[in-house]
Amino acid sequence: EFVQIAIDGPAGAGKSTIAKELAKGLNYTYIDTGAMYRALTHQVLNKQVSVNDLRRVLEVAKNTDIAFEKGNIFIDNKEVNDEVRSSIVSKNVSFIARIPEVRDILVDLQRKIASNQNVVMDGRDIGTKVLPHATLKIFLTASVEERAKRRYIELKEKGLEVNLAEIEDEIITRDKMDEERSCSPLKVAEDAIVIDTTGKSIQEVIRQIISFLNE
Ligand code: C5P
Repeated sequence: EFVQIAIDGPAGAGKSTIAKELAKGLNYTYIDTGAMYRALTHQVLNKQVSVNDLRRVLEVAKNTDIAFEKGNIFIDNKEVNDEVRSSIVSKNVSFIARIPEVRDILVDLQRKIASNQNVVMDGRDIGTKVLPHATLKIFLTASVEERAKRRYIELKEKGLEVNLAEIEDEIITRDKMDEERSCSPLKVAEDAIVIDTTGKSIQEVIRQIISFLNE
């Protein structure tokens, strides 16, 4: 049996940084499921399809090859790490992620990836839907201010033009949509451990997760 560690939580709670580091330390495969929803959103926007045109969005979803390998996200074999982080993708991704048929396609892909290797998978519905029998389920949270500040620093380091108030608004709106959607909304799994990362270092949170894994 393979080990599955599910890391869920709202935008900017530190999921990807922590999941990536944790996977590295354990020598497990890290899978960023948010990048998959972002990749599909990027493709939809690129094809000038409206995110509300269900029929055409599904057509794009069925005809696009999305893959996450070794920390990189690919659309039809082309690496699109920076493209999927753009603000236009961030603003539109929740519209794509609320479509049940889109989720079915990506959830299948995520389960397939987790079926034959040890994984640390981060997202919104990993503990509740994708891997309901995961070895360990962690739900990361942090204050909105802290989450916005982290995103701001992250984007700024990449040389992108950013505005803190705008990022905070974007995060609040996205969380609300992710929590209120009818299909696999963002919520804490019954058997998940909640960790508030506000004011904690990455290493501190990782140590905590590893101690739960060894229990
Ligand atoms: O994790 P990240 O912030 O990159 O995720 C982008 C968006 O993708 C989320 O706001 C959410 O709408 C969607 N998502 C999801 N289910 C996941 C991962 C991400 O609905 N498992």
